[in-house]
Parts: sequence; structure tokens; C-alpha cells
Amino acid sequence: MSVKENNKSIYSELTVGLLAFQGDFDAHQKAIESLGAATLEVRTDEDLAESTHLIIPGGESTTFLKLLEFHDLTETIRRHVGAGKPVLLTCAGVILFASEVINPAQESMGLLDVTVERNAYGSQVDSFTADLDIPCLGGEKFPGVFIRAPRIAKVGKSVEVLSEFDGNPVLVRQRNILGMTFHPELSGDTRIHEMFLKT
Ligand code: GLN
Repeated sequence: MSVKENNKSIYSELTVGLLAFQGDFDAHQKAIESLGAATLEVRTDEDLAESTHLIIPGGESTTFLKLLEFHDLTETIRRHVGAGKPVLLTCAGVILFASEVINPAQESMGLLDVTVERNAYGSQVDSFTADLDIPCLGGEKFPGVFIRAPRIAKVGKSVEVLSEFDGNPVLVRQRNILGMTFHPELSGDTRIHEMFLKT
């Protein structure tokens, strides 16, 4: 049996919803489908209800806030999290879920107990890649792609830090929420998506 067929038999029951208002959700879609799970573009309550998992991609957090409110999705997302269903957050997704946002302060959902500083590594031109040590993924480093990334400045007691870069957490987990300030969907390495599917 090939690896793909093998994966298919493990993940084919899952439907991973991708919040599809903006951002690079299609790169996440490719990564998830390469592992054999189904995907669904989420724009309404009904879409989210059909999803076993949810991915909130990177993008512009201020725009996401407006769109979530406009489409009335905030409460549905809270219910998804409250029901213990897995959520993967990249970059702007972490900002949306944070308990506190600084630089500047902005509204957030308070579902992930972290304080996040927006655009902490500079502007678009200061985007960079770094080889990350992620012990729970095994010995091989993970290529971290940081794009106008936020910095996780503080984490609460219920948050587990799975990787750090430059002295700050870059990959964290709080129960069913997996958050990262970098973009695994742009790295060509699907180990984080696979860890998410196993949640
Ligand atoms: N800088 C963006 C924000 O503050 C996040 C960037 C990203 O998601 N890549 O919302």
C-alpha cells in the first residue's frame, strides 16, 4: 500500500473546513488533501457545522474581524471550539483567537490564552524563513516561513509551547487549538498539518 493510500485510510473520514474569506487558504487545502482528508471552504454556519476540523489561515486580522462579524460566524466558531473540535490557526488566526492583542490593541476572541504583538518582526519586506526546532515532530528541523508575523509575548498556564524561535513561542497548543505565527502551508512540509489531523 502506498503512503497516500495508507494516509487515506486514516484521514478519509475527516472534513477540514478552511475559513475562505481571504488569505492563503488554498495552500492549506492542498496540504490537507495531499494527506487524504477532505476539505470544505467555510463561509457560513452550515459549512462550519459540516467540518470536523477548522483552519483559520493567515491574512489581515482586522479584515477577518470585520468579515466574521458581517457573516455572523463568531458565535459558530466559539461553539466549534467549545465542542472540542480541532482548530489550526496560522498568523492572523492566532491574532483573532488571542486573549490580548497589542501594537496596536485590537478586539479579539479570547479563545487562546496568549498576548500577541502584531507585526513584531517588521513589515512585509522583513518577512523571513527560519529552521525551527519542533521536538514533538522528531529530529528534523521545520522550515518556518514568517510573513509580517506577530510575536507571542506571553502565554497562560493552559498553553503548551511546542516550539520557540529567538526566545519567543512560535507554535503553541491549548487543548484542541494549535496556533503558530509562521506559515506551514508554504513550507512544503506537511508534518504540522498531519499532527493537526491526528488531534
Ligand atoms: N500582519 C497581519 C496582521 O496583523 C498578520 C500577517 C499574516 O497573517 N501573515 O493581521
